[in-house]
Amino acid sequence: MNILLLGSGGRESAFAWKISQSSQCSQLFIAPGNGGTNAYGKNANINPNNFEAVKALVLKENIALVVVGPEEPLVNGIHDFFVNDEELAGIPVIGPKKEGAILEGSKDFSKQFMARHGIPTAASRSFTSETLEEGLAYLQSHALPIVLKADGLAAGKGVLILDNTAEAQEELRLMLSGKFGDAGATVVVEEFLNGIELSVFVLTDGENYVILPEAKDYKRIGQGDTGLNTGGMGSVSPVPFASKAFMDEVERDVIIPTINGLKKDNIDYTGFIFFGLIKVNEKPLVIEYNCRMGDPETESVIPRIESDLVELFLAASKKKLKGFKLEISSKNAATVMIVAGGYPGDYEKGKTISGIENVRDSKVFHAGTVLEGGVVKTNGGRVLAISSLQNSQFEALQSATADAARIYFDGKYFREDIGFDLIS
Ligand code: ATP
Repeated sequence: MNILLLGSGGRESAFAWKISQSSQCSQLFIAPGNGGTNAYGKNANINPNNFEAVKALVLKENIALVVVGPEEPLVNGIHDFFVNDEELAGIPVIGPKKEGAILEGSKDFSKQFMARHGIPTAASRSFTSETLEEGLAYLQSHALPIVLKADGLAAGKGVLILDNTAEAQEELRLMLSGKFGDAGATVVVEEFLNGIELSVFVLTDGENYVILPEAKDYKRIGQGDTGLNTGGMGSVSPVPFASKAFMDEVERDVIIPTINGLKKDNIDYTGFIFFGLIKVNEKPLVIEYNCRMGDPETESVIPRIESDLVELFLAASKKKLKGFKLEISSKNAATVMIVAGGYPGDYEKGKTISGIENVRDSKVFHAGTVLEGGVVKTNGGRVLAISSLQNSQFEALQSATADAARIYFDGKYFREDIGFDLIS
């Protein structure tokens, strides 16, 4: 069958690599893809948020399965668009409809969902411009630090952690008066949790679910997890502190109540659920839901999946995930992200990348790259994900880091300490 994958990041490169290995895949299209994805299929220069353009491609290329990488088209309703279109209805889409994507699209909704279904999370209250005074008073008596979250999608920038009450009050005012546009029309004020974070993923058909390998990502730009937040500077899978006992608890206290909660709320969900968890006193609490896989977690998770990904997607689309046995490698994966100089602030694009052919023990997943006249150039902040799968975590980290050093472009930067904190 012909398959369409939407997106252009390292996550989509990892998906494309894996999908292209499936015996079920005749031709893979990636829209828009990047400078590396055409190694696994055909790039189509289409914006995934332009649903009419997606439709034209699906009809022209006889697409029989659509996999949605990023959250934006899902939150904008691409799955609903397919269901409601006469010519597209019946083509399976991996990724929830709007009613499910709101778990990520609205933090206020997701907090209410967790409260309604008894899912462990930080205590919180939400405020709008109409309840600003109440919000300011609430902050006045709130313990420090305080977490403020814009309700809607804010490109990873809508979460503020503040150590000072007056500053938090000022930020609440600013957010409610449009600092993040509509995304901040409602602000969630949340208790700060002190613990260690990890990402857990399931693919669900709305009734059943398959748990994917867990991962940990590293968000800060600087060594030792310091400096500004980024989209993610690296990841590892498995996560040593996610013991069997802990993961059993995650399944019992978080995953099952979430799937049951979706059913109770009549939300028909086909796709990934990404649980952003924090382990506090050995217990899992949910920090956030995402309606898609993580990036750069996917680049460590996918290499560990031995099963055919397309078969997994087809089972999900037919609501036949029950009993699906996902084969997972016991090996360790590590991903190091190479970014452009200046990122996550301003950075330049168009730098020529060399040395990819010198990589020895890793897979190079392109992210912010473009192919221009046969030359690979930088085209984004996060440029390449270098993923290595090895017998031990140490070896995986070492080879991903060594291979990242074999690649060059002007201004190139990567963290040399991804995952090393987890090695005892
Ligand atoms: P992203 O999509 O980049 O993961 P986001 O903008 O959707 O982020 P969250 O994941 O909710 O926002 O928060 C971003 C980060 O802020 C979390 O990964 C975590 O490190 C920190 N954070 C969020 N909520 C809390 C909390 N209650 N206590 C401590 N840290 C928190």
